[in-house]
Amino acid sequence: MAEYDFDLFVIGAGSGGVRAARLAAMSGAKVAVAEEYRVGGTCVIRGCVPKKFMVYASEVTSQLKTAKGYGWTIPEAQFDWKGFLHDKDVEIARLSGIYVTNLQKAGAHLLHGRAQIVDAHTVEVLPKEGSKDAGRYTARKILIATGGRPWKPDFPGAEFGVTSDEAFHLPTLPKRVLVVGGGYIAVEFASIFNGLGVQTTLLYRGANILRGFDDDVRMHLAEELEKRGIKVVLGCDHKSIEKTDDGLLSTLSNDLTFETDAVMFATGRDPYVEGLGLDKVGVKLNERGAIVVDEQSRTTAENIWAVGDVTDRINLTPVAIREGAAFAQTEFYDTPTSFDHDMVASAVFSQPPVGTVGMTEAEARHAFGKVDIYRSVFRPMKLTFYGGQERCLIKLVVKQDDQKVVGVHMVGPDSPEIIQMAAIAVKMGVTKPQWDSTCAVHPTLAEELVTMREKYRPSEMATV
Ligand code: FAD
Repeated sequence: MAEYDFDLFVIGAGSGGVRAARLAAMSGAKVAVAEEYRVGGTCVIRGCVPKKFMVYASEVTSQLKTAKGYGWTIPEAQFDWKGFLHDKDVEIARLSGIYVTNLQKAGAHLLHGRAQIVDAHTVEVLPKEGSKDAGRYTARKILIATGGRPWKPDFPGAEFGVTSDEAFHLPTLPKRVLVVGGGYIAVEFASIFNGLGVQTTLLYRGANILRGFDDDVRMHLAEELEKRGIKVVLGCDHKSIEKTDDGLLSTLSNDLTFETDAVMFATGRDPYVEGLGLDKVGVKLNERGAIVVDEQSRTTAENIWAVGDVTDRINLTPVAIREGAAFAQTEFYDTPTSFDHDMVASAVFSQPPVGTVGMTEAEARHAFGKVDIYRSVFRPMKLTFYGGQERCLIKLVVKQDDQKVVGVHMVGPDSPEIIQMAAIAVKMGVTKPQWDSTCAVHPTLAEELVTMREKYRPSEMATV
């Protein structure tokens, strides 16, 4: 057998790459990980984690409102954007450091620099300032875990807009912002800006936000966002952006114009494959530009695997981690493992937040024909106390013939926390009678989940 520098060479030290590298190294394999930017990847450096800090910061506005509703007198609150950004960056650096330590403890070799594949067993690490790791390395197996990166539309003036990458470092908090896009990142950032007191408009060319989510969730959330002060503009696209003395003037496809201080594009993400040299080794891409893999993350090249967002399966951190772990189990622990992508729960950290697992009503009707829908829309008691108008949505989608709960959807406080528990039952194949036999926890918002007895829509009615 040929001698290689490493048993495994991982390209990208993000969620999937780090997990795979650590597990493989812990098996005794000789592992290298190349990272062109910062260890931790999108999630830690410019995704889930800094975003969640921003969500926490911006939620304080509604907490102050609640506090007033419960009798507190609070002097006018001030928010220090620069101070917050500094503290956020310190915490991100600490977390990235933990990732580096964990890789080192496992015995993996970290290489700083951009990596590209030279041939089936050779990877070149390009020079990077401050690093002496540049050079060619050979490896028995190669794992591509390079993630994705923001996609920006191309029209006159689009260069004036930022993406989520830059939104984490805006030098000043804008007074007015236009967030473009209808996916979860757009909705989350619109909520963040709005919560921080920024006059916020959400612009999406589709019929409603959160395409792919349950239609009731989409309608409910759009209404709740507007109740909280976000202007939601649908069915409309950008024509141009011009820089003016006062800010950025956006002209829309319906010729409406409005001015903001910042425009943020959250218009999707592309798999990050550029310049990797995949064509040289026969790694195929699909029509979306993502690496084609089988259920064990094997690419079309014999000794090359790929996990995480670069494969565009379900683009979430826990999924990338599980795909990386399954790869390591299969290739370094002699335990063939594939991650099951069915019933993966997810959250949107909008305000109010969304939690969801399983099928939408439309998907279930399409797959099974007959489904039972249970749905409750209500004002949580925490808010009714002081006249708050926000409403929660809880919805169950049940397959009629065997009464399996195939979808749970929530919009309201703590939905992401609650859905994690619901996901266990749904993944286990819980039926509606079993679900109903669970006694409520009172007084909670979540008790509504187990007390819905009346069907909301006739079983064969189309989704409205
Ligand atoms: P990444 O984490 O993107 O890591 C890829 C790494 O590879 C990067 O560090 C990159 O610098 C490096 N790299 C790329 N090319 C090369 C190269 N040629 N050489 C060397 N290094 C290279 N997911 C959730 O589950 N929950 C959330 O709340 C959530 N919020 C998000 C919010 C935002 C704003 C964004 C952008 C994403 C969010 N995600 C969230 C998605 C999540 O961040 C990704 O699904 C996850 O990070 C994917 O992991 P990965 O390992 O595939 O890639």
